[in-house]
Amino acid sequence: MARGSAFVFQHEDPEVPVYQVAEAELRREQARFEEALVATREELQALREQIAAQVGEAEASVFDAHLLVLEDRALIEETLLASAEKRVNIDHCFASVAERYIEFFEHIDDAYLRERASDIRDVTKRVLAHLLGRGGFRSFGDDGRAEARVFVANNINASDIAQLPREKILALVAETGGQTGHTYIMARAMKVPAVVGVAGVTEKIAMGVPVLVDGYDGTVIVDPGEDTLFRYGEFRRKRKRLQEVYESELGEPAETRDGRPCPLRANLETREEVVDAKAVHAEGVGLFRSEGMVLRDRAALASEELQFREYREVVRALDPAPVTIRTFDIGGDKYLPSRLTVRERNPFMGFRAIRYCLKNPGLFKEQLRALLRAASYGNLRILLPMISGVRELHAARELLAEARAELRARGEEVPEAVALGCMIEIPSAALMVDVLAKYCDFVSIGTNDLIQYLLAVDRGNDNIAELHEPSHPAVVRILHTIVREAKAAGVPVSVCGEMASDPVYTGLLVGLGVDELSLSPSLLPEVKYILRHMDAAEAEALAAECLRMEGPRRIRRRLGAFHEELVRRSALTTH
Ligand code: PEP
Ligand code: MG
Repeated sequence: MARGSAFVFQHEDPEVPVYQVAEAELRREQARFEEALVATREELQALREQIAAQVGEAEASVFDAHLLVLEDRALIEETLLASAEKRVNIDHCFASVAERYIEFFEHIDDAYLRERASDIRDVTKRVLAHLLGRGGFRSFGDDGRAEARVFVANNINASDIAQLPREKILALVAETGGQTGHTYIMARAMKVPAVVGVAGVTEKIAMGVPVLVDGYDGTVIVDPGEDTLFRYGEFRRKRKRLQEVYESELGEPAETRDGRPCPLRANLETREEVVDAKAVHAEGVGLFRSEGMVLRDRAALASEELQFREYREVVRALDPAPVTIRTFDIGGDKYLPSRLTVRERNPFMGFRAIRYCLKNPGLFKEQLRALLRAASYGNLRILLPMISGVRELHAARELLAEARAELRARGEEVPEAVALGCMIEIPSAALMVDVLAKYCDFVSIGTNDLIQYLLAVDRGNDNIAELHEPSHPAVVRILHTIVREAKAAGVPVSVCGEMASDPVYTGLLVGLGVDELSLSPSLLPEVKYILRHMDAAEAEALAAECLRMEGPRRIRRRLGAFHEELVRRSALTTH
């Protein structure tokens, strides 16, 4: 939960309205434009000074180029002329003229001049933010104000969050997104309360208004009164007490009451989160989303060395526990803000993860070499995302062999065997587990994507968020199939999707025979507590019962009742 003043933001490409203006209003349009130019100049000058003082003169000089764009007579005069001639609002005219300039510079065959396109784009966004009366994304971090605020936006993508200064964010509220979208997952990794899928929220909250964000049940309260604040204070204290109860068993083994082990590992995005994993006694890492590093620093994508250092640190810090590093899952809702990934009409079905890596073998091998080198420092396992069948697995294994040979040719030591696993997150892979298992050492079920592809429900679409149902009988059946086939082949199976973080599903997963769970460190204490209060046999009976049920609601109710029963039995009161 968090409380603070709102910073309202419409995403990078704001919709610029277009409307006619009466002749008498043209002067007012011009004045608006001049005010926006002056405000942008002040903003840029302040930024320039701040960067010069904090970072250096060379870094600050980029703002000189931006200030020059702002003074460009052609850009200003063409905008004024278009508005006067067409009698159209100035924001629209400015955006169109700027877009023409951007296009022009983008197609110039000179790298230096091409760069000007991004200067113009940057300045255009700032001017438009002033014209449209909304703060820009960038200005959130660099407007010179020290206090942290609640970030309210129409749309926040994973790369935005990666670049936001953590110390300035109290909470995130977004109009789009679902609970298994990467915006949400990253926010949790950063321990930022987040509420997503709140339609129209940027229209309802004004800049600077106090808001209270309750990430537990997804509520956003605008301008809360004394009573509400008091109630939330009480609620927060209760949550804290509950958390203390969960944490009281953290030092105990991750096993059922009757002793069936189920290691709980951590889902991490960066090496900085290793401390969080250790704090909750996670048994290593079940999913390290390596693309997190690239979303923060694009240079890492093509750098074996940068990656090697990151992986080595995590592996060393957790040795001898396993650290499962997943190769880049770029694409989907984790596109890079550059030409490296194209904007697609259907990105989740598109050029993503292993598909991207296999088509960019040079980049992929940078990563594989970094992984193989880091494997000398501890217990590293490699996990391949978005495997749809055996062909991709074979292709990845070939590149891994090449990466190994390249390292040996360089005289580097490489461990003989590094465990290789497949994510099972596409239904076709789920149906091929018996075959995949012949060529890999473990499988890990990514329920976020598996549910999205199985049920045809976009995981990031708030309009259908309730249809992304882990309790759908088809989900229960497919999980059952995966576990059965993996076990028959003698390959361990883990679940690393968000389903593993929800204590309501712990009984089902354990009962289906899942060997280990990997989850966000912040949710591990509660899942461990619940795991430790169930018997393996009753979990198996629960799973068998759910497999016979026909509808998602019944399954959900049954799992809810099982969870309640465990809570009651453990004498834990949630109210
Ligand atoms: C998943 O799909 O469940 C998963 C763990 O991978 P990601 O959320 O990174 O797509
Ligand atoms: Mg996935």
